[in-house]
Amino acid sequence: MELKDLIRSVPNFPKEGIIFKDITTLLKDPNGYKEALNQLVKLAENKEVTKVIGIESRGFIFGGALAEKLNAGFIPIRKPGKLPAAKVSESYVLEYGTDSIEIHKDAIQPGDKILLHDDLLATGGTMKAACNLVEKLGAEVVQISFLIELTFLNGRSKFENYDLHSLIQYDAE
Ligand code: AMP
Repeated sequence: MELKDLIRSVPNFPKEGIIFKDITTLLKDPNGYKEALNQLVKLAENKEVTKVIGIESRGFIFGGALAEKLNAGFIPIRKPGKLPAAKVSESYVLEYGTDSIEIHKDAIQPGDKILLHDDLLATGGTMKAACNLVEKLGAEVVQISFLIELTFLNGRSKFENYDLHSLIQYDAE
């Protein structure tokens, strides 16, 4: 099965000029969902992952399932203002302006082996900020996984010292 065939490209969403990679067409396909999850699990099987972190919000979809399959806990990284207890934040630069993400302070402990997961790697700004959050709390990022990588944006170059994987690549828009 070609997972790429299950991804829908939607031009000019959420704004003019962006080609949005829509994963809902993969998610609704039982075999597609299972196949993508199995591939993600296989990548991480020997990594002794203790916690999977999913990035809001599409990173939650496979992140939770991955945690269960790997016998790990699940932790959400969220947009500002969503987490109720004491938290740590990290800001990152966007094309226009900045954004930030947050994690609960007590979510991970030093010594945890973290798998970070999101649906898509574009410039890598979001995932780099997530790595910084994990490392601020003294844990180790043992793997980073994505369903989709937009290779032409070269986000991967921000992660030279990490074990980074994607299941589906696009080398042009
Ligand atoms: P970046 O920080 O540039 O790597 O952007 C990654 C985040 O933005 C991910 O959480 C993606 O869900 C989202 N994103 C960026 N570009 C796209 C795209 N073309 N299609 C779908 N989601 C995208």
